[in-house]
Amino acid sequence: MCGYSFDNLKNIKREQLGEWVPMELYRAIRLIGMYEGLPMKGKGTTFTVGKKIGEKFPINTVEEALALFEDMKIGVPTLLSKSDETMRIQVDDCFCKGVESKQKEKVCDLEGAILAGAMEKVLDKKVHAKETKCHVSGDVHCEYEVTFMDK
Ligand SMILES: [Zn+2]
Repeated sequence: MCGYSFDNLKNIKREQLGEWVPMELYRAIRLIGMYEGLPMKGKGTTFTVGKKIGEKFPINTVEEALALFEDMKIGVPTLLSKSDETMRIQVDDCFCKGVESKQKEKVCDLEGAILAGAMEKVLDKKVHAKETKCHVSGDVHCEYEVTFMDK
């Protein structure tokens, strides 16, 4: 496969600063750069970006997808239900936890699109994720309704 792989992205040779960046930087990119900075609060872009990232996850099963989502500290996912057409996935410790907003917003669409892209890869179906709950809108967890259909 051409382009950047996760194996390649793991080659980190920063001598002084190491492999970590602060959570507020991730939040700045997500909430200021994408949510505030892009047209339509980033919708469309987050869908494309998230799907592309998820499709590159080095995984083969739903379980591996969820494990990598957690390893990358995107959040702690729990599969609440699964049928032939849908999955409900709860995410705890999402990047948005603790962020306050006057509007009751759902802001974690990119993270859902990453999940959708990863599921698309392992299930070989067309997958869509809709954020149905979010800390920022006052919910206890973030949650996604994931739907899939044959390509
Ligand atoms: Zn959220």
